[in-house]
Amino acid sequence: MSPETFTPEINPAGTFTQIYSLFHELMTGLSEKEKDVLDRLARLEMEEKRLIDRYRAIKQFSDRLWEVANVCEILFNISDERKICEIVVKFLSRMYPESRVRFLYANSGRNRMRLVAASPPVAGEEDRCAVYPMDCLALKRCRPLICTSPEKEIFCSELKEVSPTQGYLCLPLMGGGSVFGCINMVIDHREGLNEPALDENALKIIDIFTTYVSLIINNNLLMKTVRREAMTDRLTGLPNRRYVLEVLQTEIFRCERYGNVFSLALLDVDTFKSINDNYGHDEGDRVLMLIADTASRCLRKVDTVARYGGEEFLVILPHTGLQAAVTVIERFRKIFNQQTFSDFLNVKNVTLSAGLAEYPTDSNDGPTLIKIADERLLRAKRAGRNKVVWE
Ligand code: GH3
Ligand code: MG
Ligand code: MG
Repeated sequence: MSPETFTPEINPAGTFTQIYSLFHELMTGLSEKEKDVLDRLARLEMEEKRLIDRYRAIKQFSDRLWEVANVCEILFNISDERKICEIVVKFLSRMYPESRVRFLYANSGRNRMRLVAASPPVAGEEDRCAVYPMDCLALKRCRPLICTSPEKEIFCSELKEVSPTQGYLCLPLMGGGSVFGCINMVIDHREGLNEPALDENALKIIDIFTTYVSLIINNNLLMKTVRREAMTDRLTGLPNRRYVLEVLQTEIFRCERYGNVFSLALLDVDTFKSINDNYGHDEGDRVLMLIADTASRCLRKVDTVARYGGEEFLVILPHTGLQAAVTVIERFRKIFNQQTFSDFLNVKNVTLSAGLAEYPTDSNDGPTLIKIADERLLRAKRAGRNKVVWE
């Protein structure tokens, strides 16, 4: 209202009407402003609530990421895969208590999975929980199978016990181009809630965690392969010199501790050079492979036979005195010789010589025991070969 329209001297009754309408106008304006302010306040409160919820979700996400980082650091230092699986299961079920978690691990052929860890435990049901990768959609596709909403169709035939009110996750673990394990999570939906039990952030955390678990287990398997290969002779598949020297030292420690005896033998193929010269190196290689084959027939699982170098082999016989060792190595010598008459070789009647030594009678030191066995081996050669010498 402009100041010219307000003229109380000319018309007092009109003035009252004017004041009233002015007041009314003012009040209407005020209540609209108040409504506007209240609306804004409500919007701000909603925004504040949304931000608080968002902050909580981000905080929970970062806390969980931190927990994942911590448990992964522990897992990186564990070499036993079963132990890793157990920790993974415990960790997931602690983070998501409304879920049942299972870890399935593939056999060496990667054509069958067996239950190795579960929370809650399912003792005695490992075989029932076995899965053939070809029967499992997630494993066949090498992609996670995720069903978080109860109303969605459940089409995993392996998870028969899952009811329509539960969701599930099936997470394959990949390594070396194939699936070596799988984590199953069956999720109970909380009563009265129709929202998924695992939200988007939970799924992200589980995805990150399982990716790390895959990497950790893969790393373990690779380390074991590298170590095994570094300790294995390629031609015969037997342990190599480095490995057998470690075994020898361990055996000495054990015998020192428990007062046991053991024997070792150095075996050498007789006139091997002439086999190479007359039949070729491939034939020589086959003779060496025959030593490995004879070892698998003649020796116990606790014994160790290794390619010590060239056509020399070192055998360690734990808990075996010299006399018993002579019997074992004599049998070895005879069986090897018999095998060289088979069709596997062109060369026939190949023989070997051996020198033996006993701990602690001959020496309580590894290199000295080998030296003594080597001297006896030389004596066997000098005495005409195809012999076992032990004194
Ligand atoms: P002795 O009866 O005195 O032991 O005579 P030998 O001919 O067996 O012994 P020598 O040390 O003269 O020859 C060993 C040969 O073994 C020489 C080497 O070329 C051969 N050799 C070493 N490693 C291999 C291998 O991996 N494959 C083949 N084919 N030959 C090998
Ligand atoms: Mg030889
Ligand atoms: Mg030799």
